[in-house]
Amino acid sequence: MTELETILLRQIAATGPLSVAEYMQTCLMHPVHGYYTTRAPLGDAGDFITAPEISQMFGEMLGLALAQAWIDQGRPARFCLGELGPGRGTLMADALRATRAVPGFREAAELHLVEVSPALREEQAARLGDAAPTWHDSAEDLPDLPLFLIANEFLDALPVRQFLRDGPGWHERLIGESDGALAFGLSDAAPLALLEDRLDDTQDGDMVETCAPATALAETLGRRIADRGGVALIVDYGEWLSRGDSLQAVKGHEKVGPLTTPGAADLTAHVAFGALAAAAPCAHAGLTHQGVFLERLGITARAQALARGMSGDRLDAHVAAHRRLTHPDEMGHLFKVLALFPDGAPPPPGVDA
Ligand code: SAH
Repeated sequence: MTELETILLRQIAATGPLSVAEYMQTCLMHPVHGYYTTRAPLGDAGDFITAPEISQMFGEMLGLALAQAWIDQGRPARFCLGELGPGRGTLMADALRATRAVPGFREAAELHLVEVSPALREEQAARLGDAAPTWHDSAEDLPDLPLFLIANEFLDALPVRQFLRDGPGWHERLIGESDGALAFGLSDAAPLALLEDRLDDTQDGDMVETCAPATALAETLGRRIADRGGVALIVDYGEWLSRGDSLQAVKGHEKVGPLTTPGAADLTAHVAFGALAAAAPCAHAGLTHQGVFLERLGITARAQALARGMSGDRLDAHVAAHRRLTHPDEMGHLFKVLALFPDGAPPPPGVDA
């Protein structure tokens, strides 16, 4: 039993079952035993691998897409270059290197990173120190400037609540105790104003998820973009509308039960992009598959250019990385891009208009 499991069981005994969101929040963010507060989750030695860790091309393409949007919006002389959950800093390092070729972009950029993990802040400082980043605990604290922002695999870490349809009402999925261990249960069913708009497209027994922190974040980013200009590129796994149980725990590159090792496994849920688009008070592009997005930005030409200097195992790994990022059977279809931008501005390159 992890220490956090003992703490959670004690809390449940004292105050009753937890929502899935309360459980996720505690597992990921507990100040002493939380997953993100205590671990370095990324890479071969960690629990999972992300697109920027697969190939430098990912950060290069995203950086150049931001730079093109910056040019299209009249090259604001000072802007916030932002990233939410920058992990090891790899994506931003690749984006900064690629955009060196864009006159004026780097000089106009102030780098701001939103990161909770002290261990990852250190890795980011090591990789991005030259660009003098400022760190923040929350996107609310980003400076009042035009905002050109990337978030890759950030929103899937935000806590979701889960609801099971029962006639006109919904049970909330809860986490309580059974035989001395954490166990799922359900609240009594009740109608919910929050889910009124889902009565038409769901049936008895369907599960849907809501993510209040994600909609609040989309509102914050969208308002800044509407007021000051900019663009947000939000990349993650998910769909337009939430449907089904997408809560997932991953430890050492394997899926594990979400209740088995609280605090020691990464815990995520799919992103419901439609809810983000609805909450953001600015324009949004059509949801675009990652594979299509990267191809439109020219990843194949970049892959060919890099391949010219490679041979043997290195070349094989490079070809496999390109495929992994873009192929529909790998990350190309599951991962999607939502772009937020100001009403009246052109959408950033690569996304569906
Ligand atoms: N974007 C990186 C890392 C993805 S992992 C990549 O693609 O490799 C998720 C990142 O978000 C980590 O850096 C994690 O520490 C951070 N994070 C998760 N939840 C957060 C929160 N609520 N506030 C700030 N950072 C958070």
